[in-house]
Amino acid sequence: AGAAGIGLAAATLSATGAHAQEQAGGAFAGKTAFITGGARGIGLACAEELAKGGANVVLYDIAAQPAEIPYPMATEEDLANAKATVESHGVKCLAIKGDVRDFDALQAAVAQTQSEFGSLDFLIVNAGITQPGRLGGFDEEQVRTITDINLIGSINTMQAAMPMMQEQGSGRIILMASTTGRAGSDNFPLYGATKWAMIGLAKSAALTVAPLNITVNAVCPTLVRTKLLDNEYVLNALAPGQGVTFEQFDALANQQIHPMDVGFYEPVEVGRTVAFLCGDGAQFISGEVVDIGAAANARFPA
Ligand code: NAD
Repeated sequence: AGAAGIGLAAATLSATGAHAQEQAGGAFAGKTAFITGGARGIGLACAEELAKGGANVVLYDIAAQPAEIPYPMATEEDLANAKATVESHGVKCLAIKGDVRDFDALQAAVAQTQSEFGSLDFLIVNAGITQPGRLGGFDEEQVRTITDINLIGSINTMQAAMPMMQEQGSGRIILMASTTGRAGSDNFPLYGATKWAMIGLAKSAALTVAPLNITVNAVCPTLVRTKLLDNEYVLNALAPGQGVTFEQFDALANQQIHPMDVGFYEPVEVGRTVAFLCGDGAQFISGEVVDIGAAANARFPA
């Protein structure tokens, strides 16, 4: 069965596996990644995994604290540190302070990417916030803020970057959705609704750019160790007045959510999946939803 076709391809791959790994440093050489929300967390992990493969990186992050966002965003210092971290992998990095709610600023950032690097090969639509609470209990500002950032911000990012990618006729687009975009969520209904919408956006965009061999996919992590959940506002909303720590929440995640023994897993795990979707092994993977669930999605709750 290994004489031809897929069998032979698999045998060749495994025979050259060690060599391929040594060469992995160059898999993305000459490419450019544009990552929203790249100053920390999952966005920064994606930046690092792509930079390790040789891609230059543009980090686009709000790096400021607007009053309507209820927990700490990345700071200017985080953004500067993220740039240095990316550059430590031997690539160039442009750090741009900007809000995904600002379409003009996104367009300017894409134009800057064009003049600095000449291409935009990997678009990682990652900036997002969460907003815990129960339906029926949100005020209008909470509804608008999360919708403006997670949904309209994602649309803005794609609309700003896609013309350049379409003109160059190549590229990979990845939207950072969530497991809450795959089922209902009692504690994160607004967040979940924006993530369902992002999956819809990914599928429609995949059709639009398919003739150009550009792929578009959504990635759905479950629970990742980042400031999105590791902050007092979110922990207090989930267990009001109980002083639940992130470590306790982590232990709960370990027992009740992931059948694999991972608790909150690290952002690098998401970065690796994103790098796979940007690589040669994912050429015909498009319009798909890639779940990173550590077996959570396999479970019937009994
Ligand atoms: P994070 O809060 O550490 O990172 C989010 C980044 O986005 C921050 O650097 C923040 O400054 C930036 N940002 C927020 N609003 C912005 C705006 N309006 N414009 C530009 N930048 C903005 O959280 P994270 O967990 O790394 O989140 C990254 C993405 O992953 C989000 O879309 C999130 O919904 C998604 N996600 C996270 C988890 C998780 O468990 N942490 C699970 C599934 C999906």
